[in-house]
Amino acid sequence: MIVVLKPNPNKEQLESLLNWLQDKGIQIHTSIGMSQTILGLVGETSSLDTDLIAALDIVEDVKRVQEPYKNANRKFHPEDTVITVGNTQIGGGTLTLMAGPCSVETEAQIIEVAKDVKASGATMLRGGAFKPRTSPYSFQGLGADGIELLKLAKQETGLPIVTEIMDASQLPLFKDVDVIQVGARNMQNFNLLKVLGAQEKPVMIKRGMSSTYEEWLMSAEYVMSKGNENVILCERGIRSFETYTRNTLDLAAIPVLRKLTHLPIIIDPSHATGKSFLVAPLAMSAVAGGADGLLIEVHNDPEHALCDGPQSLRPEAFDKLAHKLLSLHAFLKTQEA
Ligand code: PEP
Ligand code: MN
Repeated sequence: MIVVLKPNPNKEQLESLLNWLQDKGIQIHTSIGMSQTILGLVGETSSLDTDLIAALDIVEDVKRVQEPYKNANRKFHPEDTVITVGNTQIGGGTLTLMAGPCSVETEAQIIEVAKDVKASGATMLRGGAFKPRTSPYSFQGLGADGIELLKLAKQETGLPIVTEIMDASQLPLFKDVDVIQVGARNMQNFNLLKVLGAQEKPVMIKRGMSSTYEEWLMSAEYVMSKGNENVILCERGIRSFETYTRNTLDLAAIPVLRKLTHLPIIIDPSHATGKSFLVAPLAMSAVAGGADGLLIEVHNDPEHALCDGPQSLRPEAFDKLAHKLLSLHAFLKTQEA
């Protein structure tokens, strides 16, 4: 971290800043120029509050030269993280297809969709039991009963299950869930992230709709700093000025995250676009761009879906898409040298 001081800083204030930093175990390299003095801080600077230092009378500017996230940072962990769930792996050159309805609605619905997506090549069943809906009058999900139905579908198909947690108090219900999803709206629910960091199940963190890469990685850091290294990142579109699509899919997230972090990257073209005809082209683009997997909403009767019907693929459309995705992924592997 670099601290640029204002010209002729007050001596006592400078002394007190230096003592405070030294007490925190920070080494200070001072460089005195003609008009300005610059302090180079080395050590455990991630716990320092840059805004607090920048607000001091004697300070002109503060800049971090290193990212504030450590566990999630590729610099400290060059190898890709590979997460094993049941007998499938997420990351490390595999292509994970998570598919299923936005909401679990009935036993027949979830079992039918689970069988269909499995037959098409999906490796995980994704369905919502606790639904974060914009309106309190919309279907809120089946809650605990929804998780029971997901478990039945898992028994029936062998597919591991991914479902969203909305509050730490729900965790006991997630005992048989394989991957716990944190939705976009909860990306910065820090208490929830800490609780999920203190347990062992993999956690998939969706990007907040107006969150920067750094904020998103800091959310991963919350989970990892409590001991759970099994974190997956899911880009689901961000808010932009465009209203034609539900959100704007940020595909640059794939190469950016690949550079910044070792964590697996999943792309969700369903919530990113809100329209089923956009799901296939963006899913293909995500695989071409190097994503580790996709989260795709599939419903056996989209017209009557209780949530997100317009963006849901019918099983037949998912089947076609899954084959194309797996072929593209296999082809790209042959091109790696
Ligand atoms: C979902 O995955 O069903 C969901 C609600 O997504 P998001 O949190 O990305 O809006
Ligand atoms: Mn949905």
